[in-house]
Amino acid sequence: MTETEHTSETVTLARLPSGVSLTTTVHTYRPASADADTAADATTAGSPTLYIQAAQHGREVNGTETLRRFHERLLEVPLSGTIVAVPVANPLTFDRVSYTAPETFDSVNSNMNRVWPGDADGSLHQRMAATLWEYVTQADAIVDLHTGSPDMYPHVVYREGDDRARELASAFGTDLLLSEEANDDASEEWHRRGFAGKLRVAAAGEDIPAVTPELAHNKQIVESAVETGVDGLFNVCRTLELLPGNIIDHDQTVARNHLGKVTTPESGLFRPEPALELGDLISAGTTLGTVFDPATYEPLVTATTERAGLLYALTKEATVVEGEALASVALVRESEN
Ligand SMILES: [Zn+2]
Repeated sequence: MTETEHTSETVTLARLPSGVSLTTTVHTYRPASADADTAADATTAGSPTLYIQAAQHGREVNGTETLRRFHERLLEVPLSGTIVAVPVANPLTFDRVSYTAPETFDSVNSNMNRVWPGDADGSLHQRMAATLWEYVTQADAIVDLHTGSPDMYPHVVYREGDDRARELASAFGTDLLLSEEANDDASEEWHRRGFAGKLRVAAAGEDIPAVTPELAHNKQIVESAVETGVDGLFNVCRTLELLPGNIIDHDQTVARNHLGKVTTPESGLFRPEPALELGDLISAGTTLGTVFDPATYEPLVTATTERAGLLYALTKEATVVEGEALASVALVRESEN
């Protein structure tokens, strides 16, 4: 017997210069017994609504695959609220298998995750965000699925000091949680890079707890990343009491985002220290790798970390240019065992 009712709608996100409509599919899940009216009543009566989206950055396909598998399993379990899911939030970047859209589509901001809550009269990305924002603001919790790269340790980002977002992040279950300061508390870099326009930050501004899981890998379906995503969504649903079942507790390390980035002052060929692994706790002064002049073999830079912490990114793109990030070390705030 099907426990959960599923409907889907095609939603126009924006109009392309040619006049072609840019559309995506929005999926809605409700308890099987409820018709639309009673489901709406149930929402106002306090049963929660969860909004999940993937692929704002179109190459981050493991979020999209996570939602496909989540869909299959969700139909077999009894739901006590509403879930709205958008597997392809940004078809422009999905079709290009890219992170950002070309300037020909959006001269204001090529990164959709810098324009929230969007603007119905704005640029293409702003219009797309404004369309989806209508769904976002009806939700009680937000999960914005992203993926990093093979060089990045899977983690979930939440706003520092936001206990409800912290609970969602914790429920998602990755080994590492990264708290991020926002607005007045945030660094100059945070403001310069337009992070106030992230969906997670804009939703928090509306008092909706939101988290950004960063599953590993992009462009390829990676089973472990997808299963982490599906397990994470189910545990988030249990925590919100959308689904029955025991909440699974995880051992997690909490660290702070956007600190301890190690960049190279020289261009060349970077060889990461072979003994290092993502997730390692390292001390200040640890050697992360060496940048060589590829033609003369001369070592140019020995990259070290100034601070102790958890190594959560270490580049595998061997050809590096000056100023580029080689590694990220998160400042550990607490360990939970
Ligand atoms: Zn992303």
